Amino acid sequence: MRVCVIGTGYVGLVTGACLAHIGHDVICVDNNEEKVKLMRSGQSPIFEPGLSEIMQTAIEKGKIEFTTDLAAGVAHGQILFIAVGTPPLPTGESDTRYVEAVARGIGSHLNGDYKVIVNKSTVPIGSGDWVRMIVLDGYREQRKEANTPVLVGAGSADAVPDAVVFEEPAFDVVSNPEFLREGSAVFDTFNPDRIVLGGNSERAITLMQELYAPIVSRDFAEDKSMPAVPVVVTDLSSAEMIKYAANAFLATKISFINEVANICDRVGADVVEVARGIGLDSRVGSKFLNAGIGWGGSCFPKDVSALIHTADDYGYEAQLLKSAVSVNERQRMVLVEKLQQVLKILKGKTVGLLGLTFKPDTDDMRDAPALTIVQHLTRLGTKVKAYDPIVSQSGLSHGLSDILIETDPERLADGCDALVLVTEWQVFKSLDYAKMAKLMNAPVLIDGRNFLDQDALEAIGFRYLGIGRAS
Ligand code: NAD
Repeated sequence: MRVCVIGTGYVGLVTGACLAHIGHDVICVDNNEEKVKLMRSGQSPIFEPGLSEIMQTAIEKGKIEFTTDLAAGVAHGQILFIAVGTPPLPTGESDTRYVEAVARGIGSHLNGDYKVIVNKSTVPIGSGDWVRMIVLDGYREQRKEANTPVLVGAGSADAVPDAVVFEEPAFDVVSNPEFLREGSAVFDTFNPDRIVLGGNSERAITLMQELYAPIVSRDFAEDKSMPAVPVVVTDLSSAEMIKYAANAFLATKISFINEVANICDRVGADVVEVARGIGLDSRVGSKFLNAGIGWGGSCFPKDVSALIHTADDYGYEAQLLKSAVSVNERQRMVLVEKLQQVLKILKGKTVGLLGLTFKPDTDDMRDAPALTIVQHLTRLGTKVKAYDPIVSQSGLSHGLSDILIETDPERLADGCDALVLVTEWQVFKSLDYAKMAKLMNAPVLIDGRNFLDQDALEAIGFRYLGIGRAS
């Protein structure tokens, strides 16, 4: 099928490349010329395991193209994905201006062919109908400019004066929220737990089912013997709510175990044992029960805030979600408190951060807990250094101008009063901690993810503190 994906970030590029990989003809549109140039040369502008490989193969097979030309993308695609960012506004609402710009742009390039316009971006509940309205606005403006009369549909508040009656442009809007995880986005696309399709047009839903058929039947899955991927076909608002509710649930689950960890710290229990004990209960499940320094990234914080905001708009105070957020905000401070517990005065001390990104296997620094921790430590007069397998290589400071980004873990350890593990990169399991301990002023390690082997570190002389591991 002919597909156009607009916005080639973590979601759009992975979606486009994976759809090309399974045989569709894809055009990816982005308004960032530098990115488009890079992608045309077969390089991915983001770090995502396996992505460059499938991009290059799809380019060689002529299954994917990259352009800044939205008109060309709209003309090409039977299915048009909107996959631009919806970052948070200071109020907590989603900033939907990029979605709006794209929807208007699509409308202005619609021709007579039927299109399915897919909201892949995470958008506030009710956005399906709103996108439809904006697309129609864009279409109408185009016709006005071209001086072509147009009917914008029954009930439109803004009919063109003296318009001759024509049919509305033929399109339907579908909500198809994305659940991929950065760091395993390609794997997740080929091995999803479910696919959600929201809409009220049978024609559009049928085309979407056809699009995803090879994924649903697990043709590209790691385990091809698994049963077909469940497809949840529902209305627009429920599909939009599924995305927010899923992220809000996962974020709340993490805040829950972090709260338990803080109590463990005080009563002398070990949260790792507690999480194991409760996670084996099939009603609870063991995932998302790792205590640490809290959630971050580009999705959980903004999606939970947006849901709280939507609830407020409709006269409901989402108390549980607000508590999940405040537990998370406080959790980022736990590392600083533990450093104070061990080092006492932090002014004039040097602390080395192991990891910066909000989670491993990504280069994404959006709302990473490291940013808050750095801000607090530097405010307290601590010298902060950091080593991150991706950030250190990229040469980008990600706005961390107050800290020194080291190029290897041993340089990081040199002269430190404490090391703090912020991101659980797998390589951190096998560093030469004995050598690093010798380079430090004092071998102290605060493990913000309960990731390292406490016994092994203590055996080589480290003072080790985890989160909620007082025992
Ligand atoms: P991103 O910021 O990485 O990428 C957005 C892309 O859109 C950028 O390349 C930008 O240049 C492009 N863009 C912006 N305006 C444009 C325009 N007018 N025309 C063409 N291109 C334009 O965003 P992302 O992380 O991929 O997220 C996209 C959406 O998916 C968001 O709504 C997000 O909440 C949702 N989502 C993200 C994830 C994730 O893990 N990142 C997971 C699930 C859902």
